[in-house]
Amino acid sequence: MATNGTHTNGVAHNSDGVKHKPKIVIVGGSLGGLFAGTALKTHGYDTILLERNPDNLLHNQGAGIVAGGDTISFFERYDRTGKPVAVPSYKRIYLNQKGDVIHEQAQRQNMTSWDLSYYLLRANYDRIDSAYLEGGKLPEVRPTDGEVTYCSGCTVTAIEDKGDQVLISYLRRGEDGKEEATTILADLVVAADGPSSTIRKILEPEVERTYAGYVVIRGTVPEQEGSPEALEVFRERFCFFHGPATQNLTYTIAGANGTTEPGERLLNFVWYANFPASSPELDHLMTDISGRRRHITIPPGHLSASAWEMVKKLGHDKLPPQMAEMAAKTTAPFVQCITDVKPASKNLWMGDKVALIGDALAGFRPHTVASTSQAAFDAMGLVEWLDGSTDRQAFVKQTMQFAREVQAMGVRIGDRSQFEDLEIKEYIEDRNFASIIRQERVYGKWTEEGLDVI
Ligand SMILES: Cc1cc2nc3c(=O)[nH]c(=O)nc-3n(C[C@H](O)[C@H](O)[C@H](O)COP(=O)(O)OP(=O)(O)OC[C@H]3O[C@@H](n4cnc5c(N)ncnc54)[C@H](O)[C@@H]3O)c2cc1C
Repeated sequence: MATNGTHTNGVAHNSDGVKHKPKIVIVGGSLGGLFAGTALKTHGYDTILLERNPDNLLHNQGAGIVAGGDTISFFERYDRTGKPVAVPSYKRIYLNQKGDVIHEQAQRQNMTSWDLSYYLLRANYDRIDSAYLEGGKLPEVRPTDGEVTYCSGCTVTAIEDKGDQVLISYLRRGEDGKEEATTILADLVVAADGPSSTIRKILEPEVERTYAGYVVIRGTVPEQEGSPEALEVFRERFCFFHGPATQNLTYTIAGANGTTEPGERLLNFVWYANFPASSPELDHLMTDISGRRRHITIPPGHLSASAWEMVKKLGHDKLPPQMAEMAAKTTAPFVQCITDVKPASKNLWMGDKVALIGDALAGFRPHTVASTSQAAFDAMGLVEWLDGSTDRQAFVKQTMQFAREVQAMGVRIGDRSQFEDLEIKEYIEDRNFASIIRQERVYGKWTEEGLDVI
């Protein structure tokens, strides 16, 4: 892949000066892959996106995402649907176990949901129409757009450096469910294949995804079903509770089909609880309704009734009443093990023909509220580098330093919250520190190590 300054508006120049459109393959069709695809398309680059999930649309987990600065910047820069992506929250409040407010601070934060972000990105990338566009529109086609192809049911299994190009091997699932081994050549591979990235494992097998010792139990409750006491603390508020080995946060997100109409939104809870690795309780929790032991996630509708009873028994009494109410009223709780993925040693590989972005580059703990923002930031930086408005070194430095700093911060504040019993002011300080916007974040000197030789 030719480097900085050799691309303008989707056209690359060979070393002999001949122009050609680079062939870009994106691996992973969740938010990171779609951020990259949408930005590349807008700048005139043609892309083919390979997503392993066999369905054309990924399944909504119906859960909230805190939309950090770079997620909002991405939509401001590239969204053509005109649909608001976020519900604002104006205040942070902290509860004690009795449910009294013990601290509050004015702080605007934008809350979105994974599915709304996903459908807006699909509309922008490959013009998928959906009810999520109500109040917005299907984006217009511009003659300067790059061509896009979204291929579901394509699982990438290997990549190989072929000099000027990368050979990607993948299994393509046909309509009959049979998988066929296929290959494709690319000038640039954008690896957006998430925290268990196949591409990162090929490039740097030492980087592992490890269990952090606690899980998050998540769910939503329709706004209309909240009691007045719950609505008072959750509606357009970011509400927190810290107790021994427990943390719960609850906030308002968009409702069905992305509606942000008051009264039709959802109350979204995020409840962290310790389950030691290899404990019988963790095994119980992660064994789904069909008896299958899952490693990382129990999706909505798959948590066994006995596991849910166990969770409530272990933790219900520890929660403030408004949060206990959410656990009692949710109909489809789901569970994710909290994991760590240390940043890969570099984001550009195979002579700049492979770029790792988002969770494939570094897997943050959710307390950083930065995973989606990282994916948006990496995608915007990638396009700026290709188009020559950012030089290669600056692109590497800004994305790697951000990944290193935020990943380490997530481990620190997550461990303090789950494994130490501190005063509430310490947790408030941790959260305020995690909320410092990227542009104002001061990176430790250690985050620069080795970046000048990448
Ligand atoms: C279905 C889904 C629902 C989610 N819901 C939420 C939510 O509600 N709240 C929240 O905070 N976060 C959610 N996340 C996580 C969130 O999207 C990410 O943390 C963040 O946005 C960074 O995204 P990413 O694209 O880098 O990684 P991910 O979102 O993990 O996406 C990686 C994608 O790559 C695909 N993939 C993996 N391996 C291969 C392969 N070998 N070949 C081809 N494709 C591959 C996966 O199927 C997936 O679609 C969800 C992720 C997914 C996939």
